[in-house]
Amino acid sequence: MLLFYGSTSFSQKNDSVIIAEIVKEATENSQLEKLGHELLDGIGPRLVGTPQMKQAHDWAVAKYSSWGITARNEKWGEWRGWERGVSHIDMVYPRVKSLEGMQLAWSPGTNGKTITAETIILTDAADSFAFQRWLPNVKGKFVMISMSQPTGRPDYNWEEFALKESFEKMKMDRAAQTEAWRKRISKTGLTSKELARTLEKAGAVGIVASTWSAGFGVNKIFDANTTKIATMDISLEDYGLLYRLTESGVKPRISVRIDSKELGIVPTFNTIAEIKGTEKPGEYVMLSAHFDSWDGATGATDNGTGTLVMMEAMRILKKIYPNPKRTILVGHWGSEEQGLNGSRAFVEDHPEIINNIQVLFNQDNGTGRVVNLAGQGFLHSYDYLGRWLSMVPANIREQVDTRFPGSPGGGGSDFASFVAAGVPAFSLSSNSWLYGTYTWHTNRDTYDKIVFDDVRNNVILAAILIFMASEDPEKTSREKAVLPASRRTGEPGKWPELKSPTRKGGLD
Ligand SMILES: [Zn+2]
Repeated sequence: MLLFYGSTSFSQKNDSVIIAEIVKEATENSQLEKLGHELLDGIGPRLVGTPQMKQAHDWAVAKYSSWGITARNEKWGEWRGWERGVSHIDMVYPRVKSLEGMQLAWSPGTNGKTITAETIILTDAADSFAFQRWLPNVKGKFVMISMSQPTGRPDYNWEEFALKESFEKMKMDRAAQTEAWRKRISKTGLTSKELARTLEKAGAVGIVASTWSAGFGVNKIFDANTTKIATMDISLEDYGLLYRLTESGVKPRISVRIDSKELGIVPTFNTIAEIKGTEKPGEYVMLSAHFDSWDGATGATDNGTGTLVMMEAMRILKKIYPNPKRTILVGHWGSEEQGLNGSRAFVEDHPEIINNIQVLFNQDNGTGRVVNLAGQGFLHSYDYLGRWLSMVPANIREQVDTRFPGSPGGGGSDFASFVAAGVPAFSLSSNSWLYGTYTWHTNRDTYDKIVFDDVRNNVILAAILIFMASEDPEKTSREKAVLPASRRTGEPGKWPELKSPTRKGGLD
């Protein structure tokens, strides 16, 4: 018997001693700031199919190797390759002002030129015929396709300072304008994708949009629908300025230079790292966080922080608990943002692992302390999660509201890919820090928004849960709770279905 080697001697160390060492390492030797700086400031956004995404995967593998952890990039698909270049957008008439804006993801560039042209607002046509008659007007112009927001102040700001009647009136006006704009688009008879391509065909030189994220100075940055002309997002403030000048007949002109590169079809990856188990190497405890991001900023909280939690937890586990009973795995997924593609591919490609995962913990909703943990519909999740959580220091554990057995998540982030396969997979869910408004998919999701003390808190939580799950003498139950009947149809609740990933994306 291997009494003096491997896990046996290690697991004889008292659990609470190991836990104390995990806390000490996370607190006194934290690498979070350095990792965050290298990944977010140095490499930047990680849009699927970009060279920066590949660079990030290679960086992660090198980082794990430097910690003595085996890691690899697993190819799971292909995507349209694209690289963002500069976006320079200036108003040049009636006065000069540099505008805050950028091209959307996958936008075509301006072919090395600066295009100067007038703006025109999408017309409020009576119907699709009237729209077609108006269409020639866009030739040679930048078309503004978003409504102008009546206020750039978030509702919480109105609530604090406005007269109640003013706030109510603003909300009513805004709702009416939003509805009218929705109708304006629908009366063209086109979907937003068709609209973009119709404007492009009609000779527009670019499309200008503004997707406000309901906070001060913050816009969502998603993808372009055009294939030849540039599509850009302009901040609420500057978009409103242009809109008002266009509407009042001043005929403002903007000057736009946008560079981007098409890179053909490129491979897409997940980064997988592992610390081999000594006693039950064929059973797995798994950490999980998507690695990709949108590219309006650097994806610092979506999902830089989840990524940092898992990397730092792995580093600490390797140092404090190098001979785990079960194999510790981490998955850094590609293309979560386009539909959980990396994790769905992993589930599909690795049945031998999927059938033997003791537990998986995913984190993907911002920089905040974990405050929620639900049982995802696993009947006995209370037993094991409760047992493991009881070992977490009280100041961290007491923040976490638990709900058992809960109901299985059908989407939202990568844990759902595993839940669908019947794997006890859970979401370490953070408190808000106004994530949805200020950082999620926005142009403000940057390093400065990270609350490192909260991220450190989550590292300790994740590392201890993984340690406890690895050591647990029992294998976790996968028994599913009977799901409540649908309130709408009365039919029995159904477990979410397994879905296949998009293996070849971004091409239409
Ligand atoms: Zn995310």
